[in-house]
Amino acid sequence: MYLDRHPDQSEVVATQDYEAQLSQISEMGQSVAEGTSDDPSASASVDLINIILVAAECAPWSKTGGLGDVAGALPKALARRGHRVMVVVPMYKNYAEPQQLGEPRRYQVAGQDMEVIYYHAYIDGVDFVFIDNPIFHHVENDIYGGDRTDILKRMVLLCKAAIEVPWYVPCGGYCYGDGNLVFLANDWHTALLPVYLKAYYHDNGFMIYARSVLVIHNIAHQGRGPLDDFSYLDLPVDYMDLFKLYDPFGGDHLNIFAAGIKAADRLLTVSHGYAWELKTAEGGWGLHGIINESDWKFQGIVNGIDTTDWNPRCDIHLKSDGYTNYSLETVQAGKQQCKAALQKELGLPVRGDVPVIAFIGRLDHQKGVDLIAEAMPWIAGQDVQLIMLGTGRQDLEDTLRRLESQHYDRVRGWVGFSIRLAHRMTAGADILLMPSRFEPCGLNQLYAMMYGTVPVVHAVGGLRDTVEHYNPYEESGLGWTFEKAEANRLIDALGHCLNTYRNYRTSWEGLQKRGMMQDLSWDNAAKLYEEVLLAAKYQW
Ligand code: ADP
Repeated sequence: MYLDRHPDQSEVVATQDYEAQLSQISEMGQSVAEGTSDDPSASASVDLINIILVAAECAPWSKTGGLGDVAGALPKALARRGHRVMVVVPMYKNYAEPQQLGEPRRYQVAGQDMEVIYYHAYIDGVDFVFIDNPIFHHVENDIYGGDRTDILKRMVLLCKAAIEVPWYVPCGGYCYGDGNLVFLANDWHTALLPVYLKAYYHDNGFMIYARSVLVIHNIAHQGRGPLDDFSYLDLPVDYMDLFKLYDPFGGDHLNIFAAGIKAADRLLTVSHGYAWELKTAEGGWGLHGIINESDWKFQGIVNGIDTTDWNPRCDIHLKSDGYTNYSLETVQAGKQQCKAALQKELGLPVRGDVPVIAFIGRLDHQKGVDLIAEAMPWIAGQDVQLIMLGTGRQDLEDTLRRLESQHYDRVRGWVGFSIRLAHRMTAGADILLMPSRFEPCGLNQLYAMMYGTVPVVHAVGGLRDTVEHYNPYEESGLGWTFEKAEANRLIDALGHCLNTYRNYRTSWEGLQKRGMMQDLSWDNAAKLYEEVLLAAKYQW
């Protein structure tokens, strides 16, 4: 058995349910190990380890973007491969499922004594552990909000508490222990974890077999601040050098991502294209030097998607208000019905022949929604409908509202965060527009293809990896790509796309089918993650 227990841990009794599920997972892992699993991606021989993914957000409880989706779905795929898997995430409000577990513990953050209560839920083979302290409350709609030091304190507490969860939280009766453990940290928010693992534990002879992997989901946010912020981190002074980075604009500053990248045993990012871009001066946002130095431990793995949540055959958001579930066999009729329902829901003219174009995403410079606004005079001259859903920068939210009021007969700009509408748009639209200036992986284009919605994207990062440009001579490819984030390039690509939609129906249906037939599930990506986690554990 791969479970172990910290010697301090008092005797606890495993619940029968949890035991039964664990042994089921263990058997699945065994069949993976023996090569008798039905899963074609299962490897011939696998060491089973304990994995703890730590993140600032996790769907369905908390989500601002792709990180939340990854934290909710990847662990389940790793558990299906037989590993014992936990997710540790802040508790931003009271959630229905989790129950209090273990004893409360206290941690120092910036000189303040903070009590942490642990909550636990066991779902789909994964232990979800929530860190509860008032510091996390009331920011569920603004997880990364507040001033710089507020968020820093939240992330210090998260990392300090998360790292000791394997000692003190008896999931199903047994603590994970640290003997067979790899932490999976995500973005700058949890980049302190690899540093704490070294400074507090390895340096003092504790957790000596535990390892850490850090995943870069977005390099644009790094946890930068003045050098004085070091005092909040509660680390020995000789660790300062790990954090210190020179910036030509601001001089020396403190950079949390930089320290995590250096301290982690392995480094990952979410696509091959982004892995390449991160090593360039344009794409590395000042960290390209450190990433290049870490090249030996760095690679890209394209995200998968949660095919239970995002699946037109069983999507719960398509079960009411005139929408319908559909499959590869029923895609034409299914999408027509969803399109009509979407047009009706948003008060647009209900017309089956008009192409519906969708945009879904955070409203910031990265996502390029301003390029859609720039292309609007051309779009307005086309017989199309455009639906945009997003939240973020005030001026861009105003742009959505303005475009809707100026073109009310064909444009809707829905300002807000609505998971239901995102699903319904993905089903009801014909085309998904993603003009992102940079895109580490991008999930919306993957969801779109699963739903027979054809993507038109800027060929960058993960978008370049996942959307193969349509080739009409060979009837191959998955959508349209454009090489520069410029409105005229977007117009060009969208123009070709609309021409195919209107005049080459068979080619269009071929694009839809190729998109839907891909295996975009997490199972393939989880196998690659497993290789990296095992390399972190055993090759150093
Ligand atoms: P990023 O992580 O950079 O925001 P991704 O494409 O990786 O971009 O993931 C974005 C996720 O957030 C997707 O699941 C998308 O549907 C969702 N999303 C973004 N904006 C909204 C919104 N306004 N309402 C609902 N879901 C949204």
